[in-house]
Amino acid sequence: MQLSSRLQKFNEPETLKMAKLGRELRAKGIDVIDLSLGEPDFDTPAHVKEAAIKAIHDNWSHYTPVAGFLDLREAVCVKLKRDNNLDYAPENIVVSTGAKQSLANTILALVDEGDEVIIPTPYWVTYSELVKIADGKVVEIRTTSEAQFKITPAQLEAAITPKTKAFLFSSPCNPSGAVYTKAELEGLAGVFRKYPDIFIISDEIYEYINFVGKHESIAQFTDLKERIIIVNGLSKGFAMTGWRLGYIAASVPVAKGCEKLQGQFTSGTSSITQKAAVQALTGDLKPSHEMVEEFTRRRKRVLELVKEIPGVKCFEPQGAFYIFPDVSSYYGKSDGQTTINNASDFCMYLLNTAHVSSVMGDAFGEPKCVRFSFANSLPNIEKAWARIKEALAKLK
Ligand code: PMP
Repeated sequence: MQLSSRLQKFNEPETLKMAKLGRELRAKGIDVIDLSLGEPDFDTPAHVKEAAIKAIHDNWSHYTPVAGFLDLREAVCVKLKRDNNLDYAPENIVVSTGAKQSLANTILALVDEGDEVIIPTPYWVTYSELVKIADGKVVEIRTTSEAQFKITPAQLEAAITPKTKAFLFSSPCNPSGAVYTKAELEGLAGVFRKYPDIFIISDEIYEYINFVGKHESIAQFTDLKERIIIVNGLSKGFAMTGWRLGYIAASVPVAKGCEKLQGQFTSGTSSITQKAAVQALTGDLKPSHEMVEEFTRRRKRVLELVKEIPGVKCFEPQGAFYIFPDVSSYYGKSDGQTTINNASDFCMYLLNTAHVSSVMGDAFGEPKCVRFSFANSLPNIEKAWARIKEALAKLK
């Protein structure tokens, strides 16, 4: 059977693969603690659920406009003004089935064969694969935990070539938890001012899950706004991963390009989800704040627990809900049966020995590290890290 060569160009998400392996062990009756997946373990806020139920009763059951209902695109504009002091009109907004689709639309709308897309490491697994699907070339800028996993303006400028089409990053960052300050973004903006043809794709899906202060969007530098694409969605901040709603805010030509692509791929996202999303974006943010308070407690505890483990170097995340420690001091060690040669071996060892799932850093462009989520209950976090500590103590 001959399938398309396109399928050979990219990998399936490592995050989903690890979750699948965890589920398979669980099906055999093993108590696996999942620290691999990136989704809040909270319920969607009640007022959002009620809006969805009302939408069903009100018969919002038909196809929706490709770019999203007008009231929802207006609600996105209200949110961007309220939270980010940014001025956008509904014509700048395209709603999709998730930030993932928004990123896919954007990359396919911008990138031609051979175009370079600069992505700082570590990055969310999907970024590089979407660029490959678009026949573009990924140009990585390596960051280190010493540099708080952030790039400098000089690093950015050194990565730019005549083929650079776009720069793609997330702040707060999945997997590192790095958060760019206004001054740091201003530094990057200074470089982009010199290169007027480069698009800037700013993934802000973890905006609300920030432990250090105010979220800063690079779109605040309004002279660059025409070529900035903000990607955001409801999955993380409102615990709505399964509802499937993301959006972009972009200049009209980019928005139209994304709408054109989406018109052939999926059409508009679920009518029910869209009606609920209006409530999420314009309604009470208290449930989101309470969720972040709980993440703050877990972050503190997990950082205490990881400090107890010898040879693990851990950057303190400033946002999102992951830790991304450097575990490379374990490479080359063995428990007498299994030798750990890389992050993949490390994750498989933890899955099989400690029954804890995690994701190898290679998938995020950083082979020394492993990502552990703290989107799991405190008792599970305690139990998981006790098991990890015990399993790692056996490696000599
Ligand atoms: N961007 C980042 C950085 C993410 O971590 C995720 C989800 N893991 C997404 C985008 C996609 O989110 P969704 O499609 O659920 O909106």
